[in-house]
Amino acid sequence: MDCIFCRIIDGEIPSTKYYEDDLVIAIKDVNPQTPFHALIMPKQHIECALEIDESNSSLIAHVFEVAAKIAKENGLDGGFRIINNCGEDAGQTVKHIHFHLLGGIKMSEKII
Ligand code: AMP
Ligand code: ZN
Repeated sequence: MDCIFCRIIDGEIPSTKYYEDDLVIAIKDVNPQTPFHALIMPKQHIECALEIDESNSSLIAHVFEVAAKIAKENGLDGGFRIINNCGEDAGQTVKHIHFHLLGGIKMSEKII
């Protein structure tokens, strides 16, 4: 399995890190869609949200704790958006579950 995010987690590919602990890492998206654009992901290779179950849901909860911490630390006081793409229809390009944390601008385009 050749997973670009696992390689970033292992330090083989450089990244700009916003946060890291034993379970989770948050990096700057290489192609930011908003002035602030982080990717928060578990270090464990979970392919997408379809694989979330009782064995790993606490890890996903931790991702959201980290998202709140990063939002506060980076001044996203006006609000932010968290997006997860799962599978082809959603346009998931990297098959290692990750959550986009977007902010720093008033966002107008909404699906929901
Ligand atoms: P998704 O389309 O939800 O799978 O999002 C994948 C995201 O990963 C995109 O926003 C890419 O810009 C981002 N990305 C791809 N390669 C890297 C990388 N080496 N470092 C940081 N972000 C990356
Ligand atoms: Zn991976």
